[in-house]
Amino acid sequence: MSDFDYDLFTIGAGSGGVRASRLAAQYGARVGVAEEYRVGGTCVIRGCVPKKFLVYASEFGHAFDDARGYGWSAENVAFDWKTLIENKDDEIDRLNGIYIRNLKNAGADIFQSRATLKDKHTVHLHAENRDVTAEKILVAVGGAPWTDESVPGHDLGVTSNEAFHLKKLPKHVVVAGGGYIAIEFACIFRGLGCDVCLVYRGEDILRYFDTDVSVQVHSELKRKGVRVITQAVFDKIEPLDGDMKRVTLSNGVELEADLVFWGVGRKPVTDGLGLDDIGVELDKNGAVVVDEYSRSSVDNIFAVGDVTNRVNLTPVAIREGAAFAETEFNDNPMKMDYRFIPKAVFSQPPVGTVGYAEHEARAEFKNIDIYKTNFRPMKNMLTGSEERMLMKLVVDGDTDRVLGCHIVGVDAPEMIQCIAIAVKAGVKKADFDQTVALHPTAAEELVTLREKFKPAF
Ligand code: NDP
Repeated sequence: MSDFDYDLFTIGAGSGGVRASRLAAQYGARVGVAEEYRVGGTCVIRGCVPKKFLVYASEFGHAFDDARGYGWSAENVAFDWKTLIENKDDEIDRLNGIYIRNLKNAGADIFQSRATLKDKHTVHLHAENRDVTAEKILVAVGGAPWTDESVPGHDLGVTSNEAFHLKKLPKHVVVAGGGYIAIEFACIFRGLGCDVCLVYRGEDILRYFDTDVSVQVHSELKRKGVRVITQAVFDKIEPLDGDMKRVTLSNGVELEADLVFWGVGRKPVTDGLGLDDIGVELDKNGAVVVDEYSRSSVDNIFAVGDVTNRVNLTPVAIREGAAFAETEFNDNPMKMDYRFIPKAVFSQPPVGTVGYAEHEARAEFKNIDIYKTNFRPMKNMLTGSEERMLMKLVVDGDTDRVLGCHIVGVDAPEMIQCIAIAVKAGVKKADFDQTVALHPTAAEELVTLREKFKPAF
């Protein structure tokens, strides 16, 4: 046993930190964990989980409309924001309790405190005003929403952190950004009946995705009634009477709203942790620079999850945490494999995607075949909804390997989780062709894509 208080001290009890700490404790390490806010981290407390509850809530907004085509009367339906937020908070409290219990049951000590580094083995616990020492330190503090502080009145806007606790549902919402969070919250507020305007600085929202995906989501947003203004940013935000604000855009357009929402990215929260003072290398965004075993430039300090700004997704942080614990505490060196990670945007309709976008595949492979279809799903035939569904396969023409699959439409994330298994395992287009369709489903279109797509020019 070492002379340190702990074998591992983890700063940050989010998805990555909790997984690493639990596993290390199960492997016999003496583990301490500090969390300054709530155990569970962004995903559980103010990210994926509460967001998904808001997504479910907002989907009812469209479902009541659709139900009429199937003979239901859905008159006088009413929505109560307070009930939604209270029920959501109850569930988050329950999950928070489970995370705390799991850590304790594994044998880890939890400190409800901000923790900063004094030297490479010493952590200062601010709430208790004392130091603890550890042989290895894991930095798993995650990221936080970023807002553009150069915009006058920027603090009149909220981020996702505050949006989960609004006292009332706004009527008019202006959203900045064109990535995951901006699109998801634009759809949530629209589904709940708000007027929504999305302001994006570029041309194509979700620009990191396959172009067909971004075009489809853009047009479906507009079909749902979201106003989308591209090639503009916020110039200033001014207070008006009551809750109202005026947002002036760089193109001169003025928008009035009772909620201004920043969805312009997140940043690692390494400020003030003491990392740079002890020689831990940070990149220009403040992310901890790590090697493939999540080791920082200081040999006993490691980092996993969003604080490393690799792939900022919960399941990735969990895997990175597990790989770290296996390597350092179970004598089983393990690296995270970043290829073919499935991703979803919980827009309405949602996006599910795995593997190469068409432009990425064309940049890396010589012969790329594209198969795609864009159709109105069967369910919409009786509802009158014009919402469409996109399915696209990106195939290596030389080997027949499916390099990417992209779906926009109802249940796309559920479909893509299963398809990702096959794509990761190296499925060929011929395997799709040999799979019998499951009828009648939307997903059957994936195994009946026969014609290679030929661009018109
Ligand atoms: P993203 O990186 O997805 O999107 C940020 C958006 O803000 C982009 O459209 C970007 O434009 C725009 N932007 C950046 N800087 C400025 C600026 N100065 N002025 C105006 N617009 C700006 O970040 P998010 O905050 O949406 O999400 C953060 C991360 O969290 C994601 O990358 C994802 O990894 C994770 N996440 C995952 C979810 C999921 O799995 N469903 C849900 C939510 C978050 P441009 O495109 O031109 O760069």
